[in-house]
Amino acid sequence: MKWEENVRRVVPYVAGEQPHKQKMIKLNTNECPYPPAPGVAELAKQLDCAALRRYPDPNTTPLVDALADYYHVNRDQVFVGVGSDDVISMTFMTFFNSSRPILFPDVTYSFYDVWAELYRIPYKTCALDADWHIRPEDYRQENGGIIFPNPNAPTGLLEPLSVVEDILRHNPDVVVIVDEAYVDFGGESALSLVDQYDNLLVVQTFSKSRAMAGLRIGFCIGNAKLIRYLNDVKFSFNSYTMNYPSQLLGVEAVRDDTYFKETTGRIIRTRERVKEALQELGFTFPDSRANFIFARHETVSGEQLFLALREADIYVRHWNKPRIGEYLRITVGTDEEMDALLAFLRAYLHKEAV
Ligand SMILES: *Cc1c(COP(=O)(O)O)cnc(C)c1O
Repeated sequence: MKWEENVRRVVPYVAGEQPHKQKMIKLNTNECPYPPAPGVAELAKQLDCAALRRYPDPNTTPLVDALADYYHVNRDQVFVGVGSDDVISMTFMTFFNSSRPILFPDVTYSFYDVWAELYRIPYKTCALDADWHIRPEDYRQENGGIIFPNPNAPTGLLEPLSVVEDILRHNPDVVVIVDEAYVDFGGESALSLVDQYDNLLVVQTFSKSRAMAGLRIGFCIGNAKLIRYLNDVKFSFNSYTMNYPSQLLGVEAVRDDTYFKETTGRIIRTRERVKEALQELGFTFPDSRANFIFARHETVSGEQLFLALREADIYVRHWNKPRIGEYLRITVGTDEEMDALLAFLRAYLHKEAV
């Protein structure tokens, strides 16, 4: 058909599957195993549905204010979007308009190359070293912008702020985006650097550490000028990206810092315990500071383990991709879920060994 010549063709991002089974253990999309803060459920019950006939606040004012207070920045330094996917997509559109390639790691969040393709942004990947670390010297070449997660996904490895700062110092002429989707699980945020570097944007999300993937809330913090440019593009795209319930419920989540620290602390403790157990079972992995562990087994292949687990209704993530095909990315769930996973692996690996 002739019209097909004018289609914007893209290879879409593939998210982890969302099966709906009664008795499954779902460790494949890094969701939080605990519910959102209790205040969120309380407020949801009292939601004024009559207000739904109105358009929501296009500036997302209550949520922007709550985040500015929480992170001790000015409200003109905060941009809110529909999940950090929406935020990052907007940053690509806004800041990556050079003919020079943008840079990101070869093993990283697999949405970056999808957005680059979608917006026709040239890009180049920089290989992580053999231990899965970012090599800051790779980011000293000519480029049109930089993005990387810290901790990185799917490796879970955290780079120290000195590495982030090294990259910033060598790239004052482009926007550098640090995707901190997993920073609340023991990472050190680059937020402390936003006043020092006017080209730094720090992106975070409510989907993992705040247990609200279903509401779609993400945000970024940076220099007020960056935020102004982002808003100009956002308002040229869709004035009302974030719906009214998300705006209110997001504020409620930010308010309950005690619950936030408690649940993220619990996930960290479970993660450390599971690391030891996996090691005893013959797995190796980079030392994750995220809410997942990226592990391979010494003898059994990644694909075989992935399929065996799936058969038992235990869902983890596996990619048939260069460098990472032998690895499973296992989300840290509740202690009970992780015990069930470990019990299955223990039995399965024992059977494979004899
Ligand atoms: C999960 C994730 C995101 C996106 O999460 P949202 O649900 O869209 O907020 C962004 N970056 C990385 C590295 C992630 O793992």
